[in-house]
This record gives sequence, C-alpha cells and structure tokens, in this order.
Amino acid sequence: GLSVSQRGIEVGVRVEVHNDIMDDLTSVIYDPTFFIRTDRHDDLTRTFCTNRGGFVALENYQDFVCVNGHAYRDRKSDNTNFAFLSKVVLTEPVTDNQAYGESIGRLASIIGGGKPILQRFGDLRRGRRSTWAKVKAGYLQPTMTDVVCGDVSMALPGRIMANLREGLTKLNQVVPGVANDETLLYAPEIKFFATQVGTTKELETAVAGLFVAGDGPGVAGNIVSAAATGLIPAKAILARLAAEAAT
Ligand SMILES: Cc1cc2nc3c(=O)[nH]c(=O)nc-3n(C[C@H](O)[C@H](O)[C@H](O)COP(=O)(O)OP(=O)(O)OC[C@H]3O[C@@H](n4cnc5c(N)ncnc54)[C@H](O)[C@@H]3O)c2cc1C
Repeated sequence: GLSVSQRGIEVGVRVEVHNDIMDDLTSVIYDPTFFIRTDRHDDLTRTFCTNRGGFVALENYQDFVCVNGHAYRDRKSDNTNFAFLSKVVLTEPVTDNQAYGESIGRLASIIGGGKPILQRFGDLRRGRRSTWAKVKAGYLQPTMTDVVCGDVSMALPGRIMANLREGLTKLNQVVPGVANDETLLYAPEIKFFATQVGTTKELETAVAGLFVAGDGPGVAGNIVSAAATGLIPAKAILARLAAEAAT
C-alpha cells in the first residue's frame, strides 16, 4: 500500500503595511518570500503570498474563520499584505496537526466573536489590545473592516506568538518599517496541508507506474511547486518511454 506522513501546518497572521514600506521590494519581485529561523525556539517562520495594493480577505471554515489576502488587477489599495507564518510539525507521540490547527482557529474565533482579530503591532509589543479608536487614529487604514480589534496573543499559542514577534522584528532589518507600531496584524491565518504520500525522487508511489503531483497528495503547497511537481513525473515517464522505445 501507499505510505503517508504528516506535513504539519503553518499558523500566523496576515500583515498589512503601507505600499511605501514594501515598494522597493515588490516593484522588483511580485511575491518575495523570506524564511526566518527564530533564536528563542529555533523554529521556522516565513512570509508568503504578498499582495501589493491588495486586500485582506475572510476565509470561512465550518466552525471558525481565518484570513487570507489577494489583489485585483485593476483595483488597488494603498496597502500591501502578506502572510507571516510559523511552522508547526507535531511528531511524537501526538501527530494530529490538523486538529491542533483547527482548535487554534476555534479559539481565535471565540476571542474575535466569530470574526478575525485585528491588532496593531505596537499594541502587541506593549501587551495592549487594539481598539478602533487607536486603529483609526493611525495613517494606515485596514482594507478589511469586518474584524474585531483585540489582542492576537489571547488567541494564538505562546510559542507561535514569540516566533511571529521575533520574526517580524528580524524582517524589519531587511524591510525597514515592517515592524512599525502602525503595522496591522489580522489573525488567525492558518495553512493546512494534505497528508503526504510516500514517493521516490521521481514522485512515483509504491504502486509501480503510479506517479503523483500537486497539492492533493501533499507533494506541493503552492502554485510554483504544484507546477514543478507536474514536470518531475512527466520527465521520468518520458525517459522511461524513450528507454522502452530504444529496446
Ligand atoms: C485561498 C487560497 C489562497 C492561495 N494563495 C496562494 C498564493 O498566494 N500563492 C501560491 O503560490 N499558492 C497559493 N495557494 C495554493 C495554490 O492555489 C495551490 O498550491 C495550487 O493551486 C495547487 O495546484 P494543484 O494543481 O495541485 O491543485 P488545484 O489547483 O487544486 O487543482 C486541482 C484540480 O482538480 C480538479 N478536480 C478535483 N477532483 C477532481 C476529479 N475527481 N475529477 C476531475 N477533476 C478534479 C479540481 O476542480 C481542480 O481544478 C492558495 C490556495 C488557496 C486555497
């Protein structure tokens, strides 16, 4: 039969800053990704899915809500958003990453009264909740307003919060201004991944001749890797056909 393994989840926030803060980068690379290993927990954080001039969006699950981000071709906001995520892979004896992620989502939805939570990074740093009065007083206006201003650290586990705070502060060294007091954090953003099917390097499963690609069998997790994992088996199959034809 096919062997399977858990790929873990990524838990974090959607960060929103003014376009001016990211322009130097996003005018060169549409979707820059930074991987940051944190000192405190030796965990991996990363940026993902940057949307220049974009909008933060609601992601509805059956019994909790998350956030995501997107951009339109023709309609632009003054803000840039990106996911900032902390990787969680439960190994032993508990391996149910999916249940862990879902329970974080449910807790966050309780704290947010069924809506995503919005907090200014400065308030998080000082251990204070955010309020609409504080958010509206800033120069940066949220692109998603059907949210509850509060305290993200009431919703996400301490280890993840420590990673997000440290990671964003480190990112500020490369992207100055990204860890400003005004920076907006929307929570939770959670990435779930499909269970990974065991394969060879050519993405052939234990069933000879059965190859896999893309998100479904857990061998990819984004558009580029999904496309790349389509090419790998295609090349392997072509090489086999060529070898067969030559004999
Ligand atoms: C809300 C959201 C935001 C995302 N944002 C980003 C991002 O910013 N950047 C990024 O790189 N990635 C992003 N992703 C991830 C990205 O969309 C996926 O990694 C990628 O689309 C996976 O490609 P795929 O071809 O493996 O699967 P899919 O794109 O899911 O394609 C599978 C196709 O198979 C079809 N299908 C399913 N079952 C059957 C069947 N029985 N018969 C026939 N057809 C079937 C489906 O209808 C679908 O069209 C996002 C995903 C989501 C959900």
